[in-house]
Amino acid sequence: MKSLDQYLELARVAHGHLCAGQVLGVRLAMLGLRELGIDDPVAERKRIVTYVEIDRCVTDAVALVANCRLGKRALKFRDWGKAAATFVYLKTGRAVRIAARESSKQAAREMFPELEKDAGQQKAYAQLGEDLLCDKRWVKLTVQPEELPGFKGPRVVCEECGEGVNFKREVRRDGRTLCRACAGERYYEVL
Ligand SMILES: [Zn+2]
Ligand SMILES: [Zn+2]
Repeated sequence: MKSLDQYLELARVAHGHLCAGQVLGVRLAMLGLRELGIDDPVAERKRIVTYVEIDRCVTDAVALVANCRLGKRALKFRDWGKAAATFVYLKTGRAVRIAARESSKQAAREMFPELEKDAGQQKAYAQLGEDLLCDKRWVKLTVQPEELPGFKGPRVVCEECGEGVNFKREVRRDGRTLCRACAGERYYEVL
């Protein structure tokens, strides 16, 4: 595992700027990996799956340190609006959820009252003890076969729109095989 400073530099480049979210994300991920006994996330890249719970700055840093990418199916997004992530080590089957503590914001204000909010949080999140920064919980989490990075399954074609559907995302409805959009979950309206 690299040092906090090394990861922060990588995160700054990848994310486009250094911010409190980067510092928080790097620390959450370093803690999660350490708890799982993972010292080299690059070497273990096929055995780590990370669930993130917010689409904000913190997630970029978590994904960077845990070396998990959406396009590799190793990064899973649960849209819960929470600064938290769950790290799963497929080799051992263990999973740990790390969540930023709500009180860490107040702690940052108290540590660096003279600094602007983000600057103060950046410094505080780098220094705060783990117990003050975040909550750690061991959790039970089964990653279903079709969720695994290396899953190979049949690709089916939606009987309504003709588009291909991978990873068992099809829906059976009234004897027909449909994609989720045609089954009623469309998030857009066709013009
Ligand atoms: Zn940011
Ligand atoms: Zn369809």
